[in-house]
Amino acid sequence: MRAPTLRIFSRFALRFFSLFTPCVFSVFALCGLLLPLQEAAAQDAAPAAETAPETAPRQNQAQAPNIVIIFADDMGYGDIGPYGHPTISTPHLDRMAQEGTRFTQFYVGASVCTPSRAALLTGRLPVRSGMSHDRRRVLFPNSGGGLPHSEITIAEELKEQGYATAAIGKWHLGHLPEYLPSQHGFDYYFGIPYSNDMDNVSGRSNREIAFEAKPEYWNVPILRNDEVVERPADQHTITKRYAEEAVGFIREHRDEPFFVYLAHSMPHIPLFVSDDFDGRSRAGRYGDVIEEIDWSVGRVLDTIRELDLEERTFVFFTSDNGPWLIYDTHGGTAGLLREGKGSTWEGGMRVPAIAWYPGTVTPNNATAALGTTMDLFSTALSLAGVPLPDDRVIDGVNLMPLLSGERESVRDEVFYHRGTRLYAVRKGPWKAHFITQSAYGGEDPVTHDVPELYHLDHDPSERFDVAAENPEVVAEIRNLADAHARTIEPVANQLELVLEE
Ligand code: MG
Repeated sequence: MRAPTLRIFSRFALRFFSLFTPCVFSVFALCGLLLPLQEAAAQDAAPAAETAPETAPRQNQAQAPNIVIIFADDMGYGDIGPYGHPTISTPHLDRMAQEGTRFTQFYVGASVCTPSRAALLTGRLPVRSGMSHDRRRVLFPNSGGGLPHSEITIAEELKEQGYATAAIGKWHLGHLPEYLPSQHGFDYYFGIPYSNDMDNVSGRSNREIAFEAKPEYWNVPILRNDEVVERPADQHTITKRYAEEAVGFIREHRDEPFFVYLAHSMPHIPLFVSDDFDGRSRAGRYGDVIEEIDWSVGRVLDTIRELDLEERTFVFFTSDNGPWLIYDTHGGTAGLLREGKGSTWEGGMRVPAIAWYPGTVTPNNATAALGTTMDLFSTALSLAGVPLPDDRVIDGVNLMPLLSGERESVRDEVFYHRGTRLYAVRKGPWKAHFITQSAYGGEDPVTHDVPELYHLDHDPSERFDVAAENPEVVAEIRNLADAHARTIEPVANQLELVLEE
């Protein structure tokens, strides 16, 4: 083949691939996952090919960046490679941490699912939205409440700016039609609307069946948008399907800004993995589950890279609360932190957190600066160029000045609520516990006249109470707690509403 002919051929081949590859990928992503393969093949791809632009990336450089939040369920502080787990292999999260910034002191808004999710999506402590309760700590299938419509979610704000918005995975902010993701700013939803251990129809307790789990023991539904499409959910493939749904949505909306909230149902018990991950890790079933979540992170990041969107996409990985320690090896580990899910000790509320946005977020960086999931609300709005709502208290702060290296810290305080009550306050390295209680086991809360005080930089495991030696710190944090309490207004509680049987 002579040179000019070769050039023409190459140009033709390039053009051919640039026209058809995205189309073929999109068709497979959108249809192939949802329909049998034959049906996907029967789709008429021609119109899409004609309208597909020739070069990638196709997003306008002036356009606001894409935002992806990946939220694990009950993953502990010590459960992944970047946080030191010795036998769970997480190469994709390792790479994400190398290419981004990893927090060593990042917190959730509550140490159980429902209030934690409300905090992330609204940027507000759940006690402000009525999404926390002292006894019914999360929503259940017989709950009548949900995230109130007076609350503003990240999705609502971004949708208004022209973002395509998807919630994929666990919702747990109300399963009744009026509370589903479609009513809170999401264009698309696919997932189990509450915890994967609910709707237990086995006749035995979760504790009894968790270690020999079969999907049919839990009659949990999968919804696509507002419709039930599967029940009971085949939980073996749930992590894989969530990842593919996220990838499909990203491919479908590659030309416009998108917001994807990918909230995995795992590693909340009962633990399930696909065949590909069954027995793969050195850390038993729990390790298998974490490694499949790690794979899902790789799927999402690889897709973003492949679409040439990595410098236009902010991705944040974190967990909704600490590990569920009462489930032995099926619960994770908070590493050196005390206690786990359900408590206001560090292990309940400090979680792994990695920010990735090549070219903007500082790479290969670990920061001991404080951050919270509520900050993702303020960060997302800032990235999209939207001002914060000014008619309510927002508990989040914008993380971008910290993540881009402009500032060394963006917050100095963390408030730890359990249910509707303030249990502890962190100010700088100091944490005062006004009330303590173990995560599970039914012990009553203990109120301390003189709070227990820990210096978390010196003592991250909260072992040595130094209140007696530091009365001025105790006094300062007490004033802070009192001032904080004055910002909380009474609100209708959503978690105490129970449907008639
Ligand atoms: Mg959880």
